[in-house]
Amino acid sequence: MFCGIVADEVPSFRVADEPDGVAFLDTRPVFKGHVLVVPRTHLVTLADLPPESLAGYFGLVRRLTVAVESALGAGGTFVAMNNKVSQSVPHLHTHVVPRTKGDGLRGFFWPRTRYADDPEATSYAARVRTALSG
Ligand SMILES: [Zn+2]
Repeated sequence: MFCGIVADEVPSFRVADEPDGVAFLDTRPVFKGHVLVVPRTHLVTLADLPPESLAGYFGLVRRLTVAVESALGAGGTFVAMNNKVSQSVPHLHTHVVPRTKGDGLRGFFWPRTRYADDPEATSYAARVRTALSG
């Protein structure tokens, strides 16, 4: 599924498309602007990521924490990755979730929301994409 998004065969609200990875909106976000960052090659867990890819992949994750925060006026971000257990898609992905003090997120219970429609999702993707390149 994520390989299809990387190949642009499956539609997504894309935020970044770079040699080190592809980032796009989670369609069932914890909070709107919740981004998933995946490596271009099919890997299942973090243990499968070659050491030489660490700096590039996590460099992109790092830049997205800055972009998500500034694009959405968030107070910060929550960065997380499930390996095997609770990993809904077997293609390595890191969650970058915008956080605001008092937003009600507790522990690892992740109540999901939905975008009102595609234009709303497109606008969230565009905001983060713009902040990433700025
Ligand atoms: Zn894959």
